[in-house]
Amino acid sequence: MKDSLRCPRCQSEALYRYGFTPSGKQRYLCVVCQHQFVEHPARKPPEVRPSCPRCGQPMHVYMRRGGVVRFRCTRYPECRTYLKIRAEVSRS
Ligand SMILES: [Zn+2]
Ligand SMILES: [Zn+2]
Repeated sequence: MKDSLRCPRCQSEALYRYGFTPSGKQRYLCVVCQHQFVEHPARKPPEVRPSCPRCGQPMHVYMRRGGVVRFRCTRYPECRTYLKIRAEVSRS
């Protein structure tokens, strides 16, 4: 079964397969408005929570900025371990 795919911008069904994204998803180009989009945009995976390299407790998101996520140990302030992880930034 297949849902009919529509342009998210103009709802047109006149779509052109336009190669693949770097992550391997089918990319479409709307013939009507030239909008490019990806079928079924990735559902956000559950937040990856690293565990604290020092005490083994889970870490939680402390700050997100500019594609970088900072995690802080849930035992803060007892444990002041931070982690900085670069999140994938999708560019169009
Ligand atoms: Zn369109
Ligand atoms: Zn810790």
